[in-house]
Amino acid sequence: MSQSSGLLLDVLSRMDEAATRLKLDWEIYKTLKSPRTSLTATFPIRMDDGSVEIFTGYRVLYNYARGPSKGGIRFHPDVRIGEVTALAALMMLKCAVAGVPFGGAKGGVTCDPTKMSMNELERLTRRYTYMILPLLGPEKDIPAPDVNTNEQTMAWMMDTYSMLAGYTVPGVVTGKPFELGGSRGRSYATGRGVAYVTSELLQRLNMSLKGATVAVQGFGKVGSNTARFLHQEGCKIVGVTDLSGGIYNENGIDIPSLIKHTNNEKYISGFDGGEFVADYKKANEKLIRSNVDILVPAALENQITEENASEINAKVIVEGANGPITNSADIILSKKGKTVVPDIVANAGGVIVSYFEWVQDVQAYLWTEDQVNQRLKEVITEAFLKVWNIAEKHGTDMRHAAYMEAVRKIVEVTRLRGIFP
Ligand code: NAD
Repeated sequence: MSQSSGLLLDVLSRMDEAATRLKLDWEIYKTLKSPRTSLTATFPIRMDDGSVEIFTGYRVLYNYARGPSKGGIRFHPDVRIGEVTALAALMMLKCAVAGVPFGGAKGGVTCDPTKMSMNELERLTRRYTYMILPLLGPEKDIPAPDVNTNEQTMAWMMDTYSMLAGYTVPGVVTGKPFELGGSRGRSYATGRGVAYVTSELLQRLNMSLKGATVAVQGFGKVGSNTARFLHQEGCKIVGVTDLSGGIYNENGIDIPSLIKHTNNEKYISGFDGGEFVADYKKANEKLIRSNVDILVPAALENQITEENASEINAKVIVEGANGPITNSADIILSKKGKTVVPDIVANAGGVIVSYFEWVQDVQAYLWTEDQVNQRLKEVITEAFLKVWNIAEKHGTDMRHAAYMEAVRKIVEVTRLRGIFP
């Protein structure tokens, strides 16, 4: 993917459509069409066998008109500047829809973490943090975990930043271990939020969560926790895929046991609780076609395209991942009468609790798990309802409504601040 990745073009064209529909001042709006700051860094890492490898990492601060920029760090072989820019723009939009006072950012390193040792990953994380250091800070830019990064990655980033600052700065990252100032409930917040949003949606469609059938693509931080909370609400999870393949059981997969299995084995393969398909591409095809009420893509972007959109049987699609449905697939789904809850609403639980974590760090006052979960429910439900009502009022789908709400808010803040100098 280059600077103009498919996802970036999709996001920009949806933003243009929202600005046109709302008749926003184009001179102000056009400041949102490119990122404020993009940093590309190439750096060497000493590998365990003594060799030196060169890696490329990125950090894109798409926009910080509404507050410090915020967004995850991804370690993946496909990380490219265009994709990172698109994901940073989505973060800007997501924070605006959720009403969280942050801008949007994203970062990543092109690497295959599955082939690296813990020591190599630690050196990579610390050197990457050093390379992007001028951008970081609790009032400037605040990273969080994303694909293939976790609490440990955030602990290393926080420590590297703090060592160079000369004092401990917990608020420079979110999604860190609780012992270092992390928030209760952050590790599963995105999945919990997806479940809250799904529950609100089903109420409005006169569908019941109890007994509803669900297929989940991706069984990492977002997919596994979404499955966990929907399972707790009485849904029947009948299909799950990850990079090792897919598991299907029409009587419902035992999700707590599958989570126990993946905590030990990392992947779903080897789990003895349903029919297993070992090729993950075939497993995804079967999952996407499955006859379920709810489909939750929670792996990566561009999974539902014009090639497979017409084969979707699910009644509703709730986007756990960022950008899993392309624009052309969206059009097909809309013609088929499918309801889609877009990423910038559905998976906002992560950034909402990241905001809570940052507030707790800045105040050095920790909340209880119940307080975190209750406030998450309030904030994400309010965002969902606002977008649902805009969609009804304008006779459009939830994605267009969410983009309208986000773009309107960011343009208004930009107008009030004015153009510097
Ligand atoms: P993760 O690394 O924890 O998990 C990714 C999962 O997807 C793994 O189970 C992996 O095996 C699987 N996977 C990868 N490629 C796949 C494919 N082609 N088919 C099927 N499964 C595949 O990552 P995560 O944090 O759960 O993030 C998943 C998605 O959710 C990403 O789009 C991310 O940007 C988005 N997201 C994450 C958060 C968060 O808080 N972590 C918040 C909002 C959005």
